[in-house]
Amino acid sequence: MSAEVPLLVLSQVTKSYESASGVVPVLQGIDLDVAAGQTVAIVGPSGSGKSTLLHCIGGLDLPTEGTVRFKGQDQARWGEDDTAVYRNREIGFVFQQHHLLPQCTVLENAMIPALVHPDCEKAHARAVSLFEKVGMGSLMHCRPGRLSGGERQRAAVVRALVNRPSLLLADEPTGSLSESGAEDLTGLLLELNRDERMALIVVTHSMQVARRMDRVYVLEQGVLVQQPCPA
Ligand code: ADP
Ligand code: MG
Repeated sequence: MSAEVPLLVLSQVTKSYESASGVVPVLQGIDLDVAAGQTVAIVGPSGSGKSTLLHCIGGLDLPTEGTVRFKGQDQARWGEDDTAVYRNREIGFVFQQHHLLPQCTVLENAMIPALVHPDCEKAHARAVSLFEKVGMGSLMHCRPGRLSGGERQRAAVVRALVNRPSLLLADEPTGSLSESGAEDLTGLLLELNRDERMALIVVTHSMQVARRMDRVYVLEQGVLVQQPCPA
């Protein structure tokens, strides 16, 4: 285990945005290590840069300075194609809004990330078994509009996992759910994390959700601070 290269290593990551009034610093020297299969929660005030941080980890945005290494490779050295493969194969994204296409069934939606692969048959079987696992075996042929908020989020989780990512990034995944819906979805994410050995980084406003992860960090004023384990 100790000889393994960590899955994800962020070193002194900074990110600033240019605005009409000048440069706005958002992330100011983020260090973070995540091993395969670990779970991490990130909490922090609105506007503190949590989504920005997930975007930099997931290859949706580039840091201004610092490095993001995935399985030992510096993302900044990747070309566009490598980054696209990384986003498609290694990373799963779940957002606060499900972003499912309304005209497709949830099974069709979940298959979309797999369409670029030649082995579509296998992905179909994988999506079906994931829907069964998340308790939606009888609902996978429904369109999103017929489902509850919790069911749509579970379908979004299936879509995120269809390509067997090694890291799931979830940006306030329970933000539009009731308290019990949030608890159920968190339990499901942790079950999938265990069964698939997929690392999980969850941005959340909920301490109930956060404290179920291995480690909790607060992002404030551009810096990540690890919280002591609750007694
Ligand atoms: P959080 O997810 O913690 O609410 P964000 O990462 O969305 O925070 O945003 C952090 C800060 O960066 C905010 O002040 C936001 O306005 C700013 N910001 C985010 N994206 C952009 C962008 N594309 N251009 C300019 N400013 C941005
Ligand atoms: Mg956000």
